Amino acid sequence: MKAELSAWLISSAEKLRSGVKDELDIKKLLDGFGIRVISESSNKRSGALAQDSDGKWLVIVRGQRRDKNLTTVDRFTAAHELGHYLLQKHWRFSPSFADKKNYYDCESLCNQFAAHLLVDYDLVSKLLIVSPKMCLGIIRDLAKRYSVSIDVISRAILEVHPGIGICAFTKGLDGRVNRLWGLSSLNGISPRYSRKNVTAKSIHEEVIAWSKSLLGEKNRVQLDFASESTGPLKSVSCDDNSVVKDKDNSENSYYFFSKVELAVVMIKPPVDV
Ligand SMILES: [Zn+2]
Repeated sequence: MKAELSAWLISSAEKLRSGVKDELDIKKLLDGFGIRVISESSNKRSGALAQDSDGKWLVIVRGQRRDKNLTTVDRFTAAHELGHYLLQKHWRFSPSFADKKNYYDCESLCNQFAAHLLVDYDLVSKLLIVSPKMCLGIIRDLAKRYSVSIDVISRAILEVHPGIGICAFTKGLDGRVNRLWGLSSLNGISPRYSRKNVTAKSIHEEVIAWSKSLLGEKNRVQLDFASESTGPLKSVSCDDNSVVKDKDNSENSYYFFSKVELAVVMIKPPVDV
């Protein structure tokens, strides 16, 4: 059932974005389905699909935004809710929270639909990514091009390109890492890795340790590393236990205060798709 729904949703998403090269106008698309988008201000990010008293459909996106425009998170939420609408309308599939297995399957199906609706997977799969530094540039460019968050575009890249690990950090002025997520295709698609208040001396060490844990018995492969704060591309062998030092990390990190900073590792040489 899940595989059938997944294939149907992906092909629906591809049809809906056909002819769209860059950013998809999600409000216009929802309008075409007779669905109104209502944005509410809230400290928590969430979304809901609902019907008003006249039976008209609406999508509510909750979150924080600087102006009236939808944020990248709002756009993903709205696309996700359209997934729910389609599953409900065409498959009568709208499991309740009590039906845990189906509920979470449905959530992941709608996330997959949203990603395929907002991002051109065909283009992403055709990219030739030869270095982590290049991958960093691609993540930034495509996030902007499709108006999606960096974790959405990172996941899309990893789904079609094996052998890559991507981590995101935010740092305070004291250099302490406040937040971090990691996604990887180093050894199959990894679960999202998240933790708070990272104490590792450098992001480089943290990312390499994480990559090694994911690689398991394949950990003798060579890895290339690049990050937005450390500048030059570094190469490190995973099977020696030497500690890798970031010589030029500390000062540059100030430029990324409160911004999300990325680090990428890649198996060297890049694996064939
Ligand atoms: Zn949902």
